[in-house]
Order: sequence, then C-alpha cells, then structure tokens
Amino acid sequence: MGGKNLATPSYLYGGVEAGGTKFVCAVASTPQAIQASTVISTSTPTATLRQVIAFFRPYAIRSLGLATFGPIDLDRGSSTYGRILSTPKLAWQGCPIVDILQTALQVPVVVETDVNAAALAEAMYGAGWGCDPVVYLTVGTGIGGGAVVHGRPLHGLMHPEMGHMILARVANDSRPSGCPFHEDCLEGLASGHAIRVRFGEPETLPPDHRAWALEAAYLGQALATIVTILSPQRIIIGGGVMHQPHLLTRIREACARALHGYLARLNTGRDFETYLLPPALGDRSGVIGALQLAQALNSQGSSGAS
Ligand code: ZN
Repeated sequence: MGGKNLATPSYLYGGVEAGGTKFVCAVASTPQAIQASTVISTSTPTATLRQVIAFFRPYAIRSLGLATFGPIDLDRGSSTYGRILSTPKLAWQGCPIVDILQTALQVPVVVETDVNAAALAEAMYGAGWGCDPVVYLTVGTGIGGGAVVHGRPLHGLMHPEMGHMILARVANDSRPSGCPFHEDCLEGLASGHAIRVRFGEPETLPPDHRAWALEAAYLGQALATIVTILSPQRIIIGGGVMHQPHLLTRIREACARALHGYLARLNTGRDFETYLLPPALGDRSGVIGALQLAQALNSQGSSGAS
C-alpha cells in the first residue's frame, strides 16, 4: 500500500534475569513476545557476562533490562550505581554489571532487582493483574521479595529486602539460622538453604516432617507482616521450595492464624485462595519484567520524558 507508513515500528528489546545459578537472556518485540532466549550458568562475572554479551550481539536491541540478584545499588546519583553490593556470591561483590553491559552492547540499560521485576511482570501480565500494590515473594535457595506500588517497582533507602525481616521464633525451634547476618530472619529460618542446613534436603522430607510445619508458620508470619505494612491487594509466591504441593494451603492457613482475625477480609485460609497465589508466568516472571523495563526505558527515551 502506498502513502505514509503509520504502522508502529517493531523494535527489539533485551532482557536478562541474573540469578545465582543461571542467567536467563531473552530478545523480544514486546515483553511477552520472546523471539530468542538462552540460559547461561552463573560462574565468574567475566565468563558469565562474556556469554551474555555474545548472545545479544547479533540482535539490534534498542535497550536492555536487567533483573538481578542483589543487593544492588539502584540509586542513579550514587557513585556505585549499578554495582552488586555485599552479596555472599563473593566473585560478584562490587561487580559493575550495568556498566559492563552498557559499554559492551552500546545500548541504555535499566536495572532492577529480580523480585521487583517479577512483581512488575506478574502485576502487568500475570497473577497480579488489576491489583495495586502487588508483592512477589520467592522462596528458593534464598528468599527475596519485591513490590510494585502504583505501577512502579518500590525503591527507597535501597530496595526491599523482605527475606531478611526478623521473625519471632516458633517455641522449641532452637536450630541455628541459615543466614550469616541474622539469627531469626525469614531467609535464615525458611529458605531452601535454611531447610537444608537445619533439617536436610527439602526434597527428601515427607509432608508430615516438622520442617514443613515450621516452614508454613514462618512464611505465614512473614506474609502477615507484609500485609500489615504494604497492604498489597495481592501477593504472588513462587520459587523452588513452593513446588511442595502441600505447602501453599498450609501457608494460607498459617497467615490467617498469624493475623488472628484482625483483618476481616483475611480471616481464614479460604480467604487467601484468591489473595496468595502462585506466579501465573511460571519461572519467566523475572525476564518478562526485565523486558518490560527495557521497553519502558526506550519509550521514555523517544518521547523525551524524564
Ligand atoms: Zn538474614
């Protein structure tokens, strides 16, 4: 057809979900239309990022979204912006990951925590659709939580570190914490790593093992705290530990018990069946969130908005 071409140009965006065991990389024209993807095992920053850069090189991406494990400096005014901070993954401590990717690929890079990006993706396209705020909690080797408030990932002093909220111990639970920083934090008592060091390999523990009663109690308590502080309209809970089929129902009941009738809308475990949900985007929430941020960065840039 002749005349002006009024079609919206179809650009490509890059997304990276950087995790402790793997990096998921994707190229897409919209956050959900992934055209190519790859998974790279996490090793040293040099070796891992070399492979990430090699994956994106053939594509003319306009911008790159990076959803990374933290803690990471998200403050653009800071001299350590875009650097990984005090992570237990020592090889990555201080790594200027944003700078390395930006310099190598010559595109603008937007960085976010993995869980904030996952919260954004679930809020826009998944189990949190139509809700505000949305909280995303992942219970895997570690525990992380992110939040989207009024459509934006929540930042502040730095970013939420929900895995390290301090909990009250269940009576007679005197086993040591799995967190090197805190004796009574959520990650130290309920992460996959914590279950492993406190009780044994999570996959080998039967559903009636005490470890799972404690797991439900601690996650229920943590979620009650999140509900009272942020008042999310929905909470998404994912991660490897949540693959235990009995766990979600028990956590819903434990959270109702912890709230103790204080919030009329969340009185029983049943009230949580539409409130505390598994991720609808499965294990792609993080990378879809990264692509969403990349696309938003590009449209900001082209419209001249700040
Ligand atoms: Zn901790």
